[in-house]
Amino acid sequence: MSDKKHVYFFGGGEAEGKAEMKDLLGGKGANLAEMVNLGIPVPPGFTITTEVCTYYQKHDQSYPEGLRIDVRNALHKIEDVMGSKFGDTSDPLLLSVRSGGRASMPGMMDTVLNLGLNEKTVQGIIRRTDNPRFAYDSYRRFVAMYGDVVMGLKPEAKGEEDPFEVILHQKKKEKRVKLDTDLDADDLKDLVLRFKAAIKERLGQDFPEDPYDQLWGSIGAVFGSWNNDRAIEYRRIYRIPESWGTAVNVQAMVFGNTGEESGTGVAFTRDPASGENRFYGEFLMNAQGEDVVAGIRTPLQISKLKEINKNAYQLLEDIYKKLERHYRDMQDMEFTIEERRLWMLQTRVGKRTGLAAIRIAVEMVDEGLIDKREALLRIEPEQLNQLLRPVFNRKVKLEALEAGRLLAKGLNAGPGGATGKVVFSAPDAVEWRKRGENVVLVRIETSPEDIKGMNAAEGILTAQGGMTSHAALVARQMGKVCVAGCGALEIDYAKSQMVVNRRTVKEGDWISIDGTTGEVIEGQIETLPSEVLQVLLDKTMKPEESESYQLFSKLMTWADEFRQLKVRTNADQPDQSTQAVAFGAEGIGLCRTEHMFFGGDRIKAVRRMILSEDKAGRESALEKLLPMQRDDFIGIFRAMDYRPVTIRLLDPPLHEFLPHSEADIAEVARDMGVPVEKVKQRNAALHEFNPMLGHRGCRLGITYPEVYEMQVRAIVEAACQVKMEGVDVHPEIMIPLTGHRREMEIMNELSHRIADDVIRHSGVKVDYLVGTMIELPRACLVADQIAEHAQFFSFGTNDLTQTTFGLSRDDVRNFLPAYLERGIYKIDPFVSIDQEGMGQLMEMGVKKGRAIRENLKVGICGEHGGEPDSVEFCHRQGFDYVSCSPFRVPIARLAAARAVLRDAK
Ligand code: PEP
Ligand code: MG
Repeated sequence: MSDKKHVYFFGGGEAEGKAEMKDLLGGKGANLAEMVNLGIPVPPGFTITTEVCTYYQKHDQSYPEGLRIDVRNALHKIEDVMGSKFGDTSDPLLLSVRSGGRASMPGMMDTVLNLGLNEKTVQGIIRRTDNPRFAYDSYRRFVAMYGDVVMGLKPEAKGEEDPFEVILHQKKKEKRVKLDTDLDADDLKDLVLRFKAAIKERLGQDFPEDPYDQLWGSIGAVFGSWNNDRAIEYRRIYRIPESWGTAVNVQAMVFGNTGEESGTGVAFTRDPASGENRFYGEFLMNAQGEDVVAGIRTPLQISKLKEINKNAYQLLEDIYKKLERHYRDMQDMEFTIEERRLWMLQTRVGKRTGLAAIRIAVEMVDEGLIDKREALLRIEPEQLNQLLRPVFNRKVKLEALEAGRLLAKGLNAGPGGATGKVVFSAPDAVEWRKRGENVVLVRIETSPEDIKGMNAAEGILTAQGGMTSHAALVARQMGKVCVAGCGALEIDYAKSQMVVNRRTVKEGDWISIDGTTGEVIEGQIETLPSEVLQVLLDKTMKPEESESYQLFSKLMTWADEFRQLKVRTNADQPDQSTQAVAFGAEGIGLCRTEHMFFGGDRIKAVRRMILSEDKAGRESALEKLLPMQRDDFIGIFRAMDYRPVTIRLLDPPLHEFLPHSEADIAEVARDMGVPVEKVKQRNAALHEFNPMLGHRGCRLGITYPEVYEMQVRAIVEAACQVKMEGVDVHPEIMIPLTGHRREMEIMNELSHRIADDVIRHSGVKVDYLVGTMIELPRACLVADQIAEHAQFFSFGTNDLTQTTFGLSRDDVRNFLPAYLERGIYKIDPFVSIDQEGMGQLMEMGVKKGRAIRENLKVGICGEHGGEPDSVEFCHRQGFDYVSCSPFRVPIARLAAARAVLRDAK
């Protein structure tokens, strides 16, 4: 470790790092170095590597040997470039200390600004700037930040205000002023004293005066913040490994708050909400960076900068173009103007909505900046969800507006329509959501603490802050509906209510927010499918009328060019099948026939069948069911046309169909002409202690072959009929829950016997397959034996997860959250395939199966079939297809293309 380089300097025209070194320098540090390499003005500084963070966490919060000397040397280089000295009492250098991981985690970790100020150096700042107000303003911000971040003076209980804010409010009240800017130098000097006194009183410690103590305190705090609760939670949501660690960036301060000639802002090279190709940003004059992001003052549009400082604006324009061309992606930049001089503080790939991601990627291909492959790799499959998300029913919304229900308007920070009950705190959002309520989280402004609540809410509404405020940024990333900076909200946390233009909205009242227009509306508003759905499914819009549909369609066409996996859908009804085909499904991977048993009057016949004590009784009930099942299949075959359709024979334990209420039992008894007692006895006989491992799946086919015979007959008769209508049908008969060679052998024989008989009598030729689901570990272990009698395998990963882990699918709710919280499982194994464990079984199943039957068709039909990581896994294992719910078909198509492209990298 000791011969490794831990500190990388940048500034004064040269840098030791570069953009490719993100793993070591973190995103911020690597990009600062890269900007210096590109000749862009960046305040000098240095980056302490992520490896030091890992060392620090592993070695009881200590540093590798030699780090202190390296830091001191790098600091001297900053002093040389800046021409001022750290801790100097006549012209002191001040520093910022910031985190910067490999992946951006906005606001989750700590930052300290204006470091190096103390009772002596503050005099130096006054002398240099001749501006005591600025000097004390910087000083009081530093003491508060350091007191909070490094020393730990924070609010303790829910609803408690920040202790430094309380003192600040008190001061403003005493002075009878409203804004921070109304406080003069003496007031701010007094605040410094009061802040320090509060620290001493509440923590029993003195505020450190030695700048080097301050520096090391801050470096330790930033490394330590890698493991604060909100960073851990953020990593969990975005699946960022704990082992990555954060880098620390120490940089010379430049000030946006020295007066009206200074300012600070954030800008995007394209619009992060719509993706439109226009320079987009916000800034504030006489302010520090945090003011823009925290949303304390509402900022100005970037175009206004042209009027205030033309040179800086032009330079900024040159820089943004250079950066976008260089990185070939939309950039999110931070800048500061100190005394009319522009400095870049950060550039990174900008977060964007799903719509913007797609638009930017597609347009960059058209502009020749990137190719199709790159475009596909840049879009996270889940982002497509945002194009499929609901919008408000326009008519209903218009009526609401005409009825005077518009409460106010804010910024349209995260598109889509959300309706829910108002809650005023993030923990409440989580609680209410758990109870099954839809909530809109309303806050004055959000902070990283609120992340869980934001995740739980349908939508987020804030009173303060711009499009780049925390609320807006995080909402966009999560794909949440968000209205930010709605100044008309007068929120009173203590009373759990807000007053908006003289109307009171209380906790629990319904509210609707339109993140596309920024409108905040009283009451509930019906939501409608997105434009893509209106074009594809409802046909209420034409493709040429919807830009988002056109982007979607282009992207899907590209994905289809590259992917090798076929994408099918899980559907039991003709209308679902039609929907899925509109989304691009190439077949049905799972039709669960039991869902059909509940339709209309069928349950009566089903119950007769189950309750019969002999084969003859069952057969007469099955005769009634046969034509109904046949009609179901005819509908599905017609909807799916030439595409393959996999139909699973009856799977669930029989008792799921039994009558339970007294009334139902009486009705069945009447229907069958048997005494009530008889029905009850049969009910009791069919009871199982653990039905999931009980009399289900192909065990039903073994014990009641006539049930499966009826189903196979219905499938093949339907196929023959539809074939006669001219449709090239491809039915695939699927046996559930096979675990033994003999089971499959018997079921295969049964299926072929019936199917061939039907085909022979029909006089048409229908090609069909007989295969099995793979849902049990034993099936994977003896997959070669099973494949002797199966033409295809479809992994039922819901049951396979259940049986591999020994976890009941229906009973995980009581302990799974704890497992996820403690990181025992990184992700719910029912959501994403456990590649490390269950993946081995799947791999073995495919290999063994194909060893016996080279052309064995292999697919997946568990819920994992629409989850991007699982889709990639299936691609790597050589699957032929994945099958998922209709709405996830586009996501699976994109994930399948990305799997191919990533393989090639
Ligand atoms: C499965 O087990 O993955 C599956 C698709 O079947 P079901 O969910 O119906 O048990
Ligand atoms: Mg199953």
